[in-house]
Amino acid sequence: MNKRELLKYERALLAEKQRILKQGRATDEVMDAATPDATGDLTSHRTYSADQGTENYQREMASRFKTIETDTLRQIEDALKRIADGTYGICTSCGEPVPKARLEVVPHAQFCMNCLKKRKR
Ligand SMILES: [Zn+2]
Repeated sequence: MNKRELLKYERALLAEKQRILKQGRATDEVMDAATPDATGDLTSHRTYSADQGTENYQREMASRFKTIETDTLRQIEDALKRIADGTYGICTSCGEPVPKARLEVVPHAQFCMNCLKKRKR
């Protein structure tokens, strides 16, 4: 892979990272909003108990997103490291090149299609 291509993927990775971090802040706000006020007294808390189910649901969804975000961010960081050490675009499992068509869609992809299929099984 030439330098120009690497730069292109690096830009794509950084853009994706920014997008996730931005989205992550939005998720944090949902988490905060859904967290019952720790200093709130019981009387005010009881008033909102009807909304408790919705709050729990929002909180659960937010934490689920959070897990996916953290996971993807880690993969992006790994891919950036591989760009730095010159192993980007090479399957981390078998050492075969990852198809560029796949990198276009998933710039942080670390497996070729064969290894991906094997791992999903
Ligand atoms: Zn592979």
